[in-house]
Amino acid sequence: MTIAPPGPQAGSPLLIDDAQLIGGDWVPAAGGQTIDVINPATGEVLGRVPRGGADDVDAAVRAAEAAFPAWRDTNATARGALITRWAQLIDQHATELDQLESQEVGRPSWGPPPMSRILNFIAGQADKVQGVTLPTYTPDAIGLTLREPYGVVGAVIPWNAPAPMFVNDVGPAIAAGNTIVIKPAEDAPLTALALAKLALEAGIPPGVVNVVTGYGHEAGAAIPAHPRIRRMSFTGSPDTGALVMAACAQNLTPLHLELGGKSPQVILAGADLDAAIPAIAMGITMNTGQICAAGSRVVVERSIHAEVVQRLAEQMSKVKVGPWYEQVNMGPLINGKQHERVLKYMQLGQEEGADLVLGGGRPSGEQYERGFFVEPTLFDNVDPAMRIHQEEIFGPVLGVTPVADEAEALAVANGTDYGLVASVWTNDVGQAVRFARGLQAGQVAVNAALGAGVIGGPFGGYKRSGFGRTMGADAVLDYTQVKTVSLRGTGV
Ligand code: NAD
Repeated sequence: MTIAPPGPQAGSPLLIDDAQLIGGDWVPAAGGQTIDVINPATGEVLGRVPRGGADDVDAAVRAAEAAFPAWRDTNATARGALITRWAQLIDQHATELDQLESQEVGRPSWGPPPMSRILNFIAGQADKVQGVTLPTYTPDAIGLTLREPYGVVGAVIPWNAPAPMFVNDVGPAIAAGNTIVIKPAEDAPLTALALAKLALEAGIPPGVVNVVTGYGHEAGAAIPAHPRIRRMSFTGSPDTGALVMAACAQNLTPLHLELGGKSPQVILAGADLDAAIPAIAMGITMNTGQICAAGSRVVVERSIHAEVVQRLAEQMSKVKVGPWYEQVNMGPLINGKQHERVLKYMQLGQEEGADLVLGGGRPSGEQYERGFFVEPTLFDNVDPAMRIHQEEIFGPVLGVTPVADEAEALAVANGTDYGLVASVWTNDVGQAVRFARGLQAGQVAVNAALGAGVIGGPFGGYKRSGFGRTMGADAVLDYTQVKTVSLRGTGV
């Protein structure tokens, strides 16, 4: 039996068929072509969006340039109030937006979506953007700094959490007085378009937020390549991040990169396994492991290794897989390419000599045949040199590596090119402090898998996980540039 996915259906004001947002108008692609958006649980077409390209990006940049002076000069309190109004409209449509994101990403609900929370925090920062006063060499002068928006900024975001990603870039950019051209991922553009529609409805002026849909190598590549994009933000894979950086280098455009991860979950002897095991199992199966912050490497002290593996296997075997709108914990992967890639890594782990404890392939059953489903997968005795230990899989694949002691645990945890998130599970305050300082990652959690719910915590990477930070108060400051002003009075 097939159940129609719940959520906005044809005719819903949140669905925009075959149009992107440029200068307040819903328009088709300049080239007239479209892209189908697929339900990853069934392979059916959910909707269609324009296949935008360089011409569409250029039109969006022009619209954003036209909107910029008035938006920059709108006082910061008023800008914040409009963002708050946007957050309120998002709250009013929270369930539909959550379901729309589920339809295109294929995940079961995560609970209340975070977009209004993110925007309310950012709205409160809009009128807290401040410069400083500076000492001067002579008494007839005053020195100060102004923080000013860049102008038109660009952003490209991925498909795994399209709604939070959208507001994470758009919110701080427009709070600081910039106007933005943003491209959502071709696999999941519908929620971004719905959010943009609500921004217009909230009274954010036309041209302040522009959404160009399309493929990465077309519309995506055209944004950092555009010479009048004054600041760029990219969230996605390191390989694409490098291409975006190369394009930015041509125009000397400042760039913020949020890239992948291979996050360690270090479990030390004496840790509270009742807390650690369910959190780690959920962290790698939530969103089918397609979370940049997912803890995909368990690094465990040998004295508790056997117990940890047995309990992880038990916990992960309880994860119910299926279409997100049935009573399941884990949906499909996003698309055929990702499906093939994750299945290859499951095979590779076995070829490399890791011990397969659980899963390792497609689940069997008629309901799994059309969607991009995989099993929650657990490998044991993963050597740090193995590719499944070093490379981001972006699927529900967890590897366990036993270590002798604290020193080896830290070395293994830090032994990849990534540095996004890292956790340590311990009941020893000394160990907690040493790991909080020693782990090379932008976010370190002690006794928590995906962070312990800090409000306004900056988020970003070390090493190949990128640079720059979103989400904190600095996210708004990052969307400003500093001007030093010296005022010399006459007749002083
Ligand atoms: P991806 O790099 O393939 O695509 C991301 C976006 O870039 C998409 O919108 C895509 O259309 C666009 N794109 C593709 N080629 C492009 C090009 N040549 N120029 C400009 N844009 C282009 O990544 P993905 O597979 O969609 O997402 C998964 C990756 O994103 C993982 O590595 C994951 O860890 C990372 N990610 C990081 C964070 C973070 O906050 N650090 C958050 C989510 C996802």
